[in-house]
Amino acid sequence: MAVDVGAMASSVRQELGPSLRGEVICPSDHGYDPARAVFNRMINRRPLAVVRSVDASDVVRTIAFARRGDLPLSVRGGGHSVAGSAVRDGALMLDLSGMKAIRVDPEARTVRAEPGLTLGGFDRATQAFGLATTLGVVSVTGIAGLTLGGGLGWLNGGYGLACDNLISADVATADGRLLRASAQENEELFWGIRGGSGNFGVVTAFEYQLHPVDRVLAGGLSYPLTMAPRVLRFYDDFVKAAPDELSTAASLALTPGGEPTVSIAVCYCGSIDEGERVLHPLRTFESPMDDGIQPMPYTELQSGRDEGFPSGRLHYWKSGWLREVTDGAIATLMEFVPQMPSPASGVGLQQMHGVASRVDPSATAFPHRAEQYDFLIMSQWSDATDSDRNVQWTRALFEAMQPHLEEAVYVNNLGDEGPARVQAAYGENYPRLATLKRTYDPDNLFRANQNIEPSTDPSSGEE
Ligand SMILES: Cc1cc2nc3c(=O)[nH]c(=O)nc-3n(C[C@H](O)[C@H](O)[C@H](O)COP(=O)(O)OP(=O)(O)OC[C@H]3O[C@@H](n4cnc5c(N)ncnc54)[C@H](O)[C@@H]3O)c2cc1C
Repeated sequence: MAVDVGAMASSVRQELGPSLRGEVICPSDHGYDPARAVFNRMINRRPLAVVRSVDASDVVRTIAFARRGDLPLSVRGGGHSVAGSAVRDGALMLDLSGMKAIRVDPEARTVRAEPGLTLGGFDRATQAFGLATTLGVVSVTGIAGLTLGGGLGWLNGGYGLACDNLISADVATADGRLLRASAQENEELFWGIRGGSGNFGVVTAFEYQLHPVDRVLAGGLSYPLTMAPRVLRFYDDFVKAAPDELSTAASLALTPGGEPTVSIAVCYCGSIDEGERVLHPLRTFESPMDDGIQPMPYTELQSGRDEGFPSGRLHYWKSGWLREVTDGAIATLMEFVPQMPSPASGVGLQQMHGVASRVDPSATAFPHRAEQYDFLIMSQWSDATDSDRNVQWTRALFEAMQPHLEEAVYVNNLGDEGPARVQAAYGENYPRLATLKRTYDPDNLFRANQNIEPSTDPSSGEE
């Protein structure tokens, strides 16, 4: 039987619309196409309707409406998941991007932030008071999905992951409640949202711990790819022994002229003088083509990579955790990087270090705690006719890197890769997460994500 999508969407507007402060956007509306678009242009999905919420009451009403009508639901924060889980064909798309309020408490060094904020908006607000917390490294990414999956950025060595800095969150759950989750209230839910990636409800506000961060010593060093064996081996040894204040990343890419390069980027968040001393060996062990390390405002660092990730491109990413930059891993990268089909692509090794690496793996739902790198192949291109060769190159490199990677993967980098990879993302915490899912979302309403299936064990599900 044919489903009249237009009629269904109109009934969403008629039945849900009047109870909202926000708006309902239907396929027949002018704004439908921009409202359903997400960062990755490979994703071209048509939701039943888009609900633009403006506050927690809109969120609670939309969840209740979806449940009553047995409608599939997806949730959009910043819309930057490369898997495109913010939007699903035929589902109600709950779009939080209009919820951008943020309030800093400079005395307590805390901030309350709504889930539609991007990193850039968040950092600008907290930096007005000389404060910051760990987020990611591209300022247009959403704080919500990033924090709920972990959140690895330039302050992770000194201050942990974004999720480690969460003090509390307001969570709208599948049964229509709005709960506060913290170390004192709904503790197990609080554990689960720090790495459980949106499986337990919709977060309508995050409260984070902030830290004094003013100017940082940051920037990059670059070398021709032929120097990769020496550069990456030195880098690996150096950064593992470095103080917590230093967070780093290495990357392999092509210059605009097509020359393959290897680069090291750093952020030292302690005193500039001490940072100069700490970084001296890294800056002098070889002569780089370019040394751009200098003191800079933290917001300048945070937006420094934005140009490389404009909206409107097609993306295909693959990732896994890398414990050691071995000769074999370097040889594989040196073989593949010069063949990269798109000069806009890159291979990144984002370091997990210091405080982030020392948290007990069971202390939060995010399980991957070690001195290691988030190895990420970020393929991006502009012309859809180039998709096949970019996807093929990415898969071939990922396959060739298998002997060097852990079986584990960071949930925020995962594509639609099947249940075994989802299990690998939640790791040893998966059974506890499945029990929690049974408690808070037994019917799996929140399944447009890297999904945790509710435990079927009847003895579980009690908090
Ligand atoms: C250019 C770029 C750079 C990146 N850099 C980093 C980085 O440096 N460090 C890092 O850790 N990650 C990084 N990431 C990965 C990033 O963490 C994920 O893409 C993350 O999902 C982005 O969050 P979002 O809110 O923008 O995404 P969305 O696509 O809106 O959401 C992602 C998932 O979270 C769920 N979700 C979103 N908001 C909520 C909410 N309020 N309540 C419940 N569930 C919600 C969605 O349903 C979806 O399943 C980067 C990604 C991109 C594209």
